[in-house]
Order: sequence, then structure tokens, then C-alpha cells
Amino acid sequence: MPQVFSYKFTGELWQGETELNTGLFIDGKFIDGCHGTTIDVLNPTTGKLITKVAEGTAQDVDVAVKAAQKAFDTTWGLNASGAARAALLRKLADLMDFHKEELAAIEALDNGKWTVGIAALKNTIALIYKQYYSGWADKITGQTLETNESKLTYTRHEPIGVVGQIIPWNFPLLLMTWKIAPALATGNCIILKPSEFTPLTALRMAALIKEAGFPDGVVNVIPGYGEVAGAAIAAHLDIEKVAFTGSTLVGRKIMQAASQSNIKGVALELGGKSPNIIFDDADLDQAVAAAALGIFWNNGQVCAAGSRIFVQAGVYDEFLKRFTARAKSMVIGDPFAKGVDEGPLVSKPHFDRVMGYIKSGIEQGATVHYSGEEHSGDGYFIKPTIFTDTTPDMRIVQEEIFGPVVVVIKFTDEDDVIRQANNTIYGLAALVFSQNTNRALDTAHRLKAGTVWVNCAGQLHANVPFGGFKQSGFGRDLGEYALHNYTNIKAVQVGLQRRK
Ligand code: NAD
Repeated sequence: MPQVFSYKFTGELWQGETELNTGLFIDGKFIDGCHGTTIDVLNPTTGKLITKVAEGTAQDVDVAVKAAQKAFDTTWGLNASGAARAALLRKLADLMDFHKEELAAIEALDNGKWTVGIAALKNTIALIYKQYYSGWADKITGQTLETNESKLTYTRHEPIGVVGQIIPWNFPLLLMTWKIAPALATGNCIILKPSEFTPLTALRMAALIKEAGFPDGVVNVIPGYGEVAGAAIAAHLDIEKVAFTGSTLVGRKIMQAASQSNIKGVALELGGKSPNIIFDDADLDQAVAAAALGIFWNNGQVCAAGSRIFVQAGVYDEFLKRFTARAKSMVIGDPFAKGVDEGPLVSKPHFDRVMGYIKSGIEQGATVHYSGEEHSGDGYFIKPTIFTDTTPDMRIVQEEIFGPVVVVIKFTDEDDVIRQANNTIYGLAALVFSQNTNRALDTAHRLKAGTVWVNCAGQLHANVPFGGFKQSGFGRDLGEYALHNYTNIKAVQVGLQRRK
């Protein structure tokens, strides 16, 4: 039988408790996995075991798909009105709102995020449901089309059916929300796999989904390893679509599995190596603050992190001085302690990966301008790290590090910086700082990126689409665009007899 995990939070920033079920959530119930195996969930702040959760395997995915298909055919899909779906989404948003500190605390425990910041984020997450996708649920419409024949022709945007959703560990709750809200608004049933590193908020959410009153089988949550449960979702013959957020490496595998199974539809939100271009005429206070947010927020474990900062020669020295002071002032530590800016990285393997990149930067001849070190403590802490004197071919300039590590590069020529900025396999996001509107917008239009932030950083909004160019993927999360991931378009043509 599945276990219940109870925990009392006693940190400075939040005291309270949580209770969550550690089973797989299938057909509205928490159950053990078919194989009875479990996954250890570790606390990145201490390296110690938090709890164990049930491990889902291919067999469990299959059981969940059957439950989801049954729900789609009986209680959801075309059987639930848009208004009914909207009401359930609103109810879920209310529950998330009510439990936001608890959800934030679970996420901080599991992922190491800073609790105050994440608590504020919870408001935004609930709004994504409440004000945005619940609003769409009863407004999914097709078109009436003129064909110049005696015919009635129209399109319907129908739910796809059972969809798979696979998410990473860097924003477990936020990305679960981005994925399930548009899929539910459009009437799909879901098999969601959280990352094996951070399954806890998804399991707490599963209980809230049940409490909100979603019919059994509409949302199924299966913690599991990527190569096992994730691969089973990508290859399953009765899953018609898979929406994936994660690395480009795994995105490629998802596409392969999708093409070799049932040619399922795929939406991919993948990695990034976002350029941040700061011109001589930028408001430097604004640019420094945004650059720090752009790379150090969530320890740089952000797909859109501004990890390559290009600074024009006239302000390079001053920028570097102020930006370095900012990095030095950041307080790293227990995410539940007052005054802490950033907690640990998510896991030991990821800590080793980021430290490996720092080593490679040094070996390839870049200068460590600041830090390049881990931070003391039992957990996986790394200090903000700034590299200078890089060359375009270095791994730290080309590859996604996904940590608090940034390269600062001097430039003089506008065309040249755009060429350099576009010179990676990625195209997720970019940042531009200039007080000259023509220059800022011209640059924004020439950058190959799905999002460009001009004189701001990291802004996300429920109705603004987010996704990539090039090997950062395709399809969009958020906004009306995300609804397109989850509907099939059917054209209906009705022959009419003209009455004399
Ligand atoms: P990852 O690709 O290793 O894993 C992501 C998810 O895929 C996890 O749930 C994992 O278990 C699963 N998975 C792994 N192998 C699989 C397989 N063979 N088949 C199916 N599923 C499999 O990524 P990660 O380390 O968890 O997250 C970091 C990556 O996510 C970074 O590259 C980051 O840029 C990206 N990301 C992108 C966005 C975006 O919106 N573009 C947002 C957040 C994170």
C-alpha cells in the first residue's frame, strides 16, 4: 500500500506541515507501482533522504493510459462542457492558492528553491488557471468557412484524447501548471511524469486535483525514471501526443520514439544558451540588475538563463565592476533561512556537471573573474561564477551549463554581436538593453529566439507564448498558442440542397 509522507517545516521563513501520498496517482487513487520499486527523493540542502516515492514503469503507464482513455470516453473529452471544465480549473486554482505556502515549502525541500520567491510565484501559477485557461475552456471554437458551393463547412477544435506530459526538475510546479492547464481546458486526459529528482509537488497537486473534483482518470501522475516511465510514455501506442520540457538530448529521443511508435504529435520545450546584449547607451543600473536576475535566478537552472552577456566596449569595465559586486553580494544557503538569495543546485549529479563546466572553462583558457567555487555546506551549493577572456568555441560559451555560471564578452560592432549571439544550436530567449528604441527593436528582430526581453529580464505571463527556435524546440507553452498543442482540427462539410 502507498505510504503517506508527513513533514513538519521548522525553517525561519515558514513553519507548517504537509502530508502527501507517495504512491502513483492513477485513476483517482494512489497506488503502488506494478513492480513495487521506489525512488529515493533527496534534500539538495543536506544531501539526506526526504522520502521514497513509488516508481512507475511501462506497465503502470499502460494501466494509466487505459484509465485515461476510459475517462476521456465517459466523463471528460466531449462529455464535459467547457463551462464544467472551467469550473474545475477555477476550483483547482483556489485550492492551490489556499495551499500556496505549503506547495512552496515542499518545492523548496525537494528542489532547493528560495521559499519567499517561490511563494510569490504560486500566485502567478494559480492565476494561470483561474484567470487564463479556465477562461478559455468554454471558448474553444472552430471556424465557419465559405466555399462558394451549396455547402455548410466548418471546423471543430476537438481534444486529442490521452496526452503524455514529461517535465524536468527546475520548475516542477510551474511547468506542471503550464502543461496541464491548457490540456485540461481543451478536454484532454493526461499522463504526467515529473522528474525523478523532484516528484513531491506533483504528488501533492494530484491530491488537490482529486479534491477539486476532476473525474477519476483525467489526470494521472506517474513518478518514474526517464529511460523507463518517460520512454514508455513517448512510445505508447494509445498516447496521441507528447508534450515534453527538458534537455535537447532527451527531446531528440522523444521525437524518435514518437516517430517509431504511432507517429504521435510532439511539442518540445528544450534547452537554451541565451545571449544578453548590453549596448553603450543602456541604463546600466537596469542592465546590471536584469543581467544578475537573468543568470543567477534559480541558480541559473533556467532554460532561458542569460548565460552569455555581451557588453559594448564603452561600458564593459563599469558593467563588469557592478555586476561582479552584485554576484559577490548574493547570499547562498538554506532556502528556509532568512536573507538567503539562492539555495543549492538540485542534485549531486547536476552539481558535478556544473563544476565540470567550470573546470572545462579553466582548462580551455578562460579567466575566472569571480569565484569558480563551490559554497560550503553539506548540500550542492555553488557560488555565482563569472568568466571573462573566452573564445567562441569554448564549451562554456557554446553549451548549456544550467548553473550560476556566466561568460561576459566585450564587443564593439553591432553586426558582429548579433552574429555571435546567434552562433549556438539554441534559440530559446535573448535579452537586449539599449535606450535607443530603434537599435533595441532592430536587434530584437534579428535575434533567432522565441522570446526577446528588451530592457527587462525573465518576464513570463499567462497570455504570452513561450518556446524556442532551432534546437530549443517547437510548439509553445502559455497563451492561446498552447491550446493548439492539445486540439485536433476536424473539418465538417455538409452538402445542402438548394430549395426552389
Ligand atoms: P532531462 O531532459 O534530463 O529530463 C527531463 C524529463 O525527461 C525528466 O522527467 C526525465 O525523467 C525525462 N527523461 C529522461 N530521459 C528520457 C527518455 N529517454 N524518454 C523520456 N523521458 C525521459 O532534463 P532535466 O535535466 O530534467 O532539465 C533540464 C533541461 O530542461 C535543460 O536542458 C533545460 O533547458 C530544459 N528546460 C527547458 C524549458 C523550456 O521551456 N524550453 C523549461 C525548463 C527546462
